Amino acid sequence: MGKATGFMEIARVENPYRDAEARLRDFEDLHTAQPADARRAQASRCMNCGVPFCQSDFGCPLHNLIPEWNDLLYRGREREALERLLQTAPFPEFTGRVCPALCEKACNLENDATTNRDNELYLIETGFEKGWIRPRRPEKRTGKRVAVVGSGPSGLAAADLLNRLGHEATVVDRADRAGGLLMYGIPNMKLPKSAVARRVGLMAEEGVRFLLNTEADPAALSDFDAVLLCGGAKKPRALNVENARAAGVCFAVDYLTAATKAVLSGGEPDPIAKRKHVVVVGGGDTGNDCVGTALRQGCASVIQLEMMPAPPADRAANNPWPEWPRTLRTDYGQLEAIRLQGDDPRVYQTTVKRIIAGNGRIAAIETVRLKGFDPIPGTEKTLPCELMLIAAGFVGCEEATAGAFGVERNGRGNLMPADGSHHMKGNLFSAGDMRNGQSLVVRALADGRAAAREINEFLKG
Ligand SMILES: Cc1cc2nc3c(=O)[nH]c(=O)nc-3n(C[C@H](O)[C@H](O)[C@H](O)COP(=O)(O)OP(=O)(O)OC[C@H]3O[C@@H](n4cnc5c(N)ncnc54)[C@H](O)[C@@H]3O)c2cc1C
Ligand code: SF4
Repeated sequence: MGKATGFMEIARVENPYRDAEARLRDFEDLHTAQPADARRAQASRCMNCGVPFCQSDFGCPLHNLIPEWNDLLYRGREREALERLLQTAPFPEFTGRVCPALCEKACNLENDATTNRDNELYLIETGFEKGWIRPRRPEKRTGKRVAVVGSGPSGLAAADLLNRLGHEATVVDRADRAGGLLMYGIPNMKLPKSAVARRVGLMAEEGVRFLLNTEADPAALSDFDAVLLCGGAKKPRALNVENARAAGVCFAVDYLTAATKAVLSGGEPDPIAKRKHVVVVGGGDTGNDCVGTALRQGCASVIQLEMMPAPPADRAANNPWPEWPRTLRTDYGQLEAIRLQGDDPRVYQTTVKRIIAGNGRIAAIETVRLKGFDPIPGTEKTLPCELMLIAAGFVGCEEATAGAFGVERNGRGNLMPADGSHHMKGNLFSAGDMRNGQSLVVRALADGRAAAREINEFLKG
């Protein structure tokens, strides 16, 4: 059970960020890792409480066996700790970097929670470094073939489990690289693309086939025993204002994709945000990634508009532990903007009233303060803006993919079967954001694995 008094003797220490000025000069990993003794000390803080909420429904969606692997890590039994982690976590190198660590928010130590995410990352990276992670091909093949449409975390997790169960998994993606939003969405500094490529390479060695640059065609997939749709929910919410189609107005994921492509091809001399005044519409996590990316591209300034009021600093009475805290978080991009610009880039209860364009290109915007969702007359302000990034949320999956496979999106734009399962019809299944709406990597992984188990039952008849 870790060290009985560990949490009383040792303070929580997260993997530190690299210095903001240094990290703003590149797109490399935001964090620095800590050595083995620091990790063991952190793992010793897990007190294996009677009811470990961290692995309950309030905590980790994968139900990772957190107290068990923390204890093994504390005792220096790293390889066993990793094996215990891998029983439930398919790709800890992703969740160890980008998971918001729901488990930590549900930890009995509350604000002083055990650093499960950093411990998890340490274990998997140690496993890769020491050669403990080897390709594992299934001993027996079932002869059943499953096509997985989409190579994001849900598709990868499903293909991984189906392959381990002996089925032949083929992942189809229209993108030129596998990973979905892990590759093109989440920026390189948060999740280095080398980590995504390493996992995809490992899966290919284990027998998963990847068909990239390929649009899913139901006719071409008709001879598969099952088809799993994991196409994501990237249909962006558009802005309904004058000049919304002017040049320089861009959806966040398109911008982030282009930025990552540039990083992967060795950088570009004139990145799109360079020397521009940038306005990000949307105060959430995607908006924060846009802020961090625009700063690295050398923008002249960046602000982030948010319609809602700032969340409270502490939990409200109707949001008790162990629920996810709906409190103010200041993420890496916002911290970097504060360091460079002196102020928090977020402007709350404010929206765009009008885009001012010249020669078809955005030049400025008019903002207005809001009371609830209503504009307050007389609060308009004009701001320079040569690049506007829309990160105002998503409205479900693409109609085209759903239509091609003859299934209908529900009222929220998703492919959630009416009975709450993953089974749409015939041999067709759905998982991940395409089924549930835009969510989190860890939820997509858990859902991909749940769909794989359902398909396995279906294939066994
Ligand atoms: C900018 C951004 C940052 C994020 N950051 C985080 C984070 O830090 N932490 C976190 O937990 N979550 C984060 N998320 C959310 C997380 O990335 C998603 O919830 C997760 O990736 C969903 O996985 P998925 O497999 O369902 O779909 P996706 O990752 O969206 O993958 C879907 C794939 O399907 C392919 N596809 C779709 N239709 C077709 C078709 N017809 N034919 C062929 N291929 C097709 C697409 O090309 C894509 O590769 C972020 C999201 C965004 C937008
Ligand atoms: S996947 Fe996320 S919630 Fe689960 S143990 Fe890791 S950090 Fe915690």
